Amino acid sequence: MRTLHDENQASPHLHVAVDFDGVLAWTMESVVPKLQDDDTGPEWFDESQIDYYEWVIDEFGAEEFREVYDQTMSEEWRYIKPWGYEYSTRRNLQQMANVATVDVVTKQPSANHDAVIDGKNKWLVEQGLDTLIDRLISVDMDVDKSRLGYDVLINDCPYYLQDTLDYQTLILIDHHYNRPAVVDLDPTEYIRGTMNTAANIVYMEAQ
Ligand SMILES: [Mg+2]
Repeated sequence: MRTLHDENQASPHLHVAVDFDGVLAWTMESVVPKLQDDDTGPEWFDESQIDYYEWVIDEFGAEEFREVYDQTMSEEWRYIKPWGYEYSTRRNLQQMANVATVDVVTKQPSANHDAVIDGKNKWLVEQGLDTLIDRLISVDMDVDKSRLGYDVLINDCPYYLQDTLDYQTLILIDHHYNRPAVVDLDPTEYIRGTMNTAANIVYMEAQ
């Protein structure tokens, strides 16, 4: 993945971490039907749940999920759809990349699985997003992304709402499955929105 900023460009002062699964890529739509016997497609998700990962682990077990996830990402990555066409993800990442360093920071069940990371890299290239991204960083499931020093986190996982985000902004990507988590909390440092929101926020903060 190329380095984003030429030497003669001003150094970006904002660092943005963008999640992969559920923000850029609609991974679970490819993974979960394979775990199901009846292949019920996109109607599979129980809306009372707030987290895809937790739900699939409960339903199918960690080992089974890991196996299918790894196989999908390493061998069938090209069939994974981008999430949120309507939000013009590429254009909004471009806006962000103009004023910030943008890393994709992804948690995955096999964080050091080279073929999985390679699949994600290839997917980003195929989607034309690689030139807008500085680094693809893979972290273990127990890593807290809010402690990695980024100014802005863009994620679909609602659990980041429970952390104290004193020095950063969380943009919680709007999904039906993370709405229940927001109801009982009173977050002051997050913004609920889309990739479009994310681009606007980064642009405003960079002025
Ligand atoms: Mg995610």
